[in-house]
Order: sequence, then structure tokens, then C-alpha cells
Amino acid sequence: MKTEVIKLDINNIDLDKLNYAAQILKDGGLVAFPTETVYGLGANALDESAVKRIFEAKGRPSDNPLIVHIADIGQVSGLVKAIPPEAFAVMERFWPGPLTLVMEKSLIIPEVITAGLDTVAIRMPSHPVALALIKEAGIPIAAPSANTSGKPSPTSSQHVIEDLYGKVDVIIEAGCSKVGLESTVLDMTVLPPMILRPGGITPVELNTVLGKVDIDPSLVSKETEILKPRSPGMKYTHYSPKAKVIIIEGDIQSVVSKVLELQGEYAQKGAKVGILATEQTKDMYSSAEIISMGDRNEPATIAANLFAALREFDMRQVDVILAEAIESTGIGLAIMNRMSKAAGYNIIKV
Ligand code: AMP
Ligand code: MG
Repeated sequence: MKTEVIKLDINNIDLDKLNYAAQILKDGGLVAFPTETVYGLGANALDESAVKRIFEAKGRPSDNPLIVHIADIGQVSGLVKAIPPEAFAVMERFWPGPLTLVMEKSLIIPEVITAGLDTVAIRMPSHPVALALIKEAGIPIAAPSANTSGKPSPTSSQHVIEDLYGKVDVIIEAGCSKVGLESTVLDMTVLPPMILRPGGITPVELNTVLGKVDIDPSLVSKETEILKPRSPGMKYTHYSPKAKVIIIEGDIQSVVSKVLELQGEYAQKGAKVGILATEQTKDMYSSAEIISMGDRNEPATIAANLFAALREFDMRQVDVILAEAIESTGIGLAIMNRMSKAAGYNIIKV
């Protein structure tokens, strides 16, 4: 399939190009576009065959439901049975932004979107290109991350090109995703609402509006591997580079010592070692492929850099990635959730 790459300036969106991409969506085509979380692969959410093409292009399992993207809060009422009062409050506070709300679906939503569930996940992204595109298309847009299923989500158009060139109609280029991790998924069908996937909006932020939110036990339990997550997508291997990932968790000095020890062991076996470090530690290592995720005191920067770093290690063809854990407070909860999944929960505590 022929893929067109269209570059848009986030501060001065070319309306002809935008209309062209919106028309492709209306005609049942696939358009990858930037959002503030990660790049998304969009199709008309109300067109079953268009949505099926998303699953084909990504190689996504059909039991992993999609998030429906909108550009106006007024669109929600047609997509759900009823809007719980608490949902209004969080929409007002956090939309547009990296928060997805799960509510009971209306009949208009095709089964292929929800993988047979009676709930639908909805989000209003804040990226100006995403908002303008959805508004111009005038339809709700189903959009999972625009990566090959299983790989780290794309935070730049280059990542999308690597995975989906030749498999989609259009790829819109407009810089890097600022948040860098997928949205928080919040189940509004239960009280208190429950976080099914940690993301850009933190539990503390949600508590300021809702008083209390629960967190799906499978996200925080040590037995994460055996508890069944309530967000279907969370059960899959995800965010995985080709290399084996090992997380080392503990105080900084012990982490650095353990990384150096493991680096030596793997190097001796002839493996090419990558170290996922931080600004505080990157100079303590040598003779390995070293990437700093950012400053430990700026977890938002680490979130924005994580997926690109994992992909970069693949480009450098490392065999093993030794990754420093970071504190799992605030957005750190989402960072450690993604890192743990990339590592298949291979975590060494020191
Ligand atoms: P992605 O857009 O690739 O980040 O994947 C969408 C995520 O949203 C998946 O992990 C899904 O499990 C989750 N999701 C979508 N719809 C629902 C739903 N109805 N209930 C719970 N989780 C959902
Ligand atoms: Mg995804």
C-alpha cells in the first residue's frame, strides 16, 4: 500500500493538508497522527471495516479493545448509555488531556472496537493536530498507539514510519509526543472509579477531583503476573524491545554496583550490553551502550524519553538492557509499569 507522509506545523496547521487527511478518515482509510501521549493510528470508529484495518496494520490481537478519540465533550453522550456525574467532573478538569474514561457503551459502537465488552473507552487528546483532525473529520476516531503490536509505543513520526510505512494511508508528522506514555485509563463504571492503566494523569491528580480512586490490584501487586488485569490490553507483552530487559531496583549506589556487576557478566558471555541510566548515574558507567532517560528529579522527562530509548537500543542491536528503576510515585507509577512490562517483570532488587 502507498503511504503518504504529511508534515504539519503544530503552530500553523495547513488546512488543505488537514482536510485531505480528514477526508481519508471519512472514506474509511487509516491515518497515523500525533497526540500528546504517543502517536495514534486512527480510523472512523463507527465504520467496522475501517476499524478492522487498524488491527491488521498493527498485528493487534482482536481481543484488545481500542480507545475512541473525540474533539468535543458533546460527542460523548452519543457514544455511551449514560454519563456518570463523576465523569463530568473529570472531563471538565482533565480534557483535553491524557485521560481515558471507560463507560457503558451505546449501541452505535461496533463490537470490533470494544472486543465484545459492554463498555467503551473514550479520550479527548490535547495535541492541536489531533484535535483539529478529529474536529475536521466530524466523526469519533478509534486510535490505538501507531506501533506494531508488542513494540514500544511511538513517540515520534520516525517510529511510526519504522513500524507502519506501507501499511497505512497517511502518516502525519508533527514533532515528538510531549507526555511520551499512553493515557491513564480510568473505569467510571465502578465507585470509586478505578485506574486500569497508569498514565499521564496521576492518582493524586485524580483524587483532587474524585476524592478517591482505586488502582487495579494487578498493577501494584507483586503477583502482577498472575492477577488478571481488567484492562484487556494490559495482559499482553508490550513495549518490548528485541533485547532482554532487566530492571535493577534499590538505592542509587547499590543499583550502579549491580549494573556494573551484571554488565561484566554479560560482556564476558559475549553479549552487547545497553544501560538505561539517568543523568545522576550515566557517567558512572563505561564500555557499554549508555542512554540517559533524564534527571531522576524530573520524571516527566524520563516518561517522555523512555520508549525512544528502548527503540534506540534496538537500533544499536544490543542483546541485554540493564535498566535503572526510578521512584514509582506520580508519573513514576506509569513509567515503572511500562518498564516492568518491557522487562517481562524481570526485576532484581538490591
Ligand atoms: P492503546 O490505545 O494501544 O494504548 O490501547 C488501548 C488500551 O485501552 C488497551 O490497553 C485496552 O485494554 C484499554 N481499553 C480500551 N477499551 C477498554 C474498555 N472498554 N475497558 C477497559 N480497558 C479498555
Ligand atoms: Mg498500544
